[in-house]
This record gives sequence, C-alpha cells and structure tokens, in this order.
Amino acid sequence: MSTLLNGREVANSLLEELRGEVEALKAKGILPKLVVLVAGQDPASAVYVRHKEKACAKVGIISEKLDYPADVSEEEILKKIEELNNDESVNGMIVQLPLPDHIDAGKVIKAINPYKDVDGFHAYNVGKMMLSKDFEDLAPCTPKGITKILDHYDVDIKGMEAVVIGRSNIVGKPIANMLLNRSATVTICHRHTRDVASHSRDADLVVVAVGIPKFLKADMVKEGAIIIDVGINRLEDGSLCGDADFDAMKDKVGMITPVPRGVGPMTVACLLMNTVTAAKKQATL
Ligand code: NAD
Repeated sequence: MSTLLNGREVANSLLEELRGEVEALKAKGILPKLVVLVAGQDPASAVYVRHKEKACAKVGIISEKLDYPADVSEEEILKKIEELNNDESVNGMIVQLPLPDHIDAGKVIKAINPYKDVDGFHAYNVGKMMLSKDFEDLAPCTPKGITKILDHYDVDIKGMEAVVIGRSNIVGKPIANMLLNRSATVTICHRHTRDVASHSRDADLVVVAVGIPKFLKADMVKEGAIIIDVGINRLEDGSLCGDADFDAMKDKVGMITPVPRGVGPMTVACLLMNTVTAAKKQATL
C-alpha cells in the first residue's frame, strides 16, 4: 500500500494553527469575517458551504451566509458585492459557484475587491500567483491546498515531471502554475488532448481534476508516482468517488490522496487561511 496523503489530518492541523492566529488577532481587536453569497439551491454547493461555515466556527472566524433565490438578478448580486467591498467589518467574501446561468460569473468575480477575494479567483490575484511562489497569498484554495499537502509530506516538487489533467480556472490552470513556481516540468492535459495516458504514464506527479469518476486508471500511471485526486463525484448509491481509480492503483503508486478526506478538506482550510491573511493585510492598510 502506498502512502495515503491524509488531507483531513493536514487540514485539521492547519485549522488549529489558524485558531491561534485568529485568537491573537482578536486580542488586537481584529475580528476576521467571511461572507458567503449563495444563489440558488445547488445541493453540492449547500454541502460545501456547510463545511465552510463549520470550519469558520472551529477557528473563530465570523461567517455570514447570504442566500438568494435562483432567479436573483445579476444587478442585485453586484450591488451586494459593492456594499461588502465598502464594509470594513468584512475581510473576505466568496460567491459560491456555480451561479445560475443568467449570471455572468466573470463579471461577478471582477466586482470583488481583490483584497477581499479569498477564493483567489480575481484576475489581480491570479496574475500575482503567476509571478512566483512569493505572491500566492490569496491564491485559489484547492491548488493552494494541494501544495500544502505536498509540503506536509515533504514532497520536493523541484525537477519533477508533473502532469495536470484538467484546465479549469479554479483547479487545473492554477495548480499547473503553482507546480511550475516550484520548479516542476509541467504538462497540462484537457478534453482535447489526443492521448492523456501517453503523458500521465511518464509523470512523477499526476493531478487529476476532470470530474469523471475513476477517469485515471492504474495503467495510466507509473509505479511509485504521486497521485493527487481532486475529483468529487457522487455515485448513484450516494457514495463519493474521485477522478482516480483508487483501489486499482493504491498498491502501484507511491502516494495518493483519498476521496473523501483528501483535497476537499484542504480547500476549506485554505479558504480560512486566505481570510486570515486578508484580515491581517487589511489591518495594515
Ligand atoms: P471543470 O468541469 O471546470 O473542468 C474539467 C476539466 O477536465 C476541463 O478542463 C476539461 O478540459 C477536462 N476534461 C474533461 N474531460 C476530459 C478528458 N476526457 N480528458 C482530459 N481532460 C478532460 O471542473 P473543475 O471545476 O476543475 O473540477 C474538476 C473536479 O474536481 C470535479 O469533480 C469537481 O467536483 C472537483 N473539485 C474538487 C474540489 C475540492 O475541493 N476537492 C474543488 C474544485 C473542484
């Protein structure tokens, strides 16, 4: 059996550290606060938002959820963002994705003050993250969480052949960039890649984020490789499954994240980390 990269454990120790930081901030009169805007009733989003609220309560961050019906206008969301941008008691805000189809997510993200953009999706923060590892302070949470897991298990990424499967703005592209920031040689595969396996089979590190259950098969990875499975897929029987065929490859690979208890809890922990970072930064402005 390979080493299980236990994201839940790493996330819990990160939350514990953050609890201490939040206490210290509170002693100085700074009360970190996160606002989550939710439009519509997406069941998966509801689960993720609950996780975020629970984690905030655990570390002492004030969290507020603003629920809107699915037919809320784009204008109303933009107006609320403007209000939150100007509200000094709010350090971070996120708009839970996906948004209903009639709302332009790009426009909404652009409206968020980059200093309060704790999801790290604003072009300002994405651009900073492109520059180097030193500018990842408000970087997207899932990729940031992946780098934290790898750090925790002392994985030295420098010089590795890394393959990222998936090129979304929230996972694939930013993790590819963060691995590049850490001097990996990075290949990005996506739905138009002719032969994904021809790339992944040579990789020391594979990050798979496609949203297809068990997409990454055991014969697509090399022996001893490190596998980061970002996928969260709900199967018909209600169970969760990743994008990697965990059972088939667990004895072949060197390290692997499980689903659940892998990347998911790290995403939430990094959201809180970004909120604390934002609160600290705003206190010095
Ligand atoms: P997305 O749908 O935005 O992007 C999927 C990507 O996969 C696309 O870039 C597409 O080109 C690529 N792809 C699709 N089919 C492919 C194929 N046959 N071969 C190669 N590439 C292919 O998805 P996303 O938002 O990046 O999320 C991916 C998965 O990660 C989903 O299961 C999602 O639920 C999960 N996710 C988990 C977390 C977490 O915290 N663990 C966070 C975000 C997303």
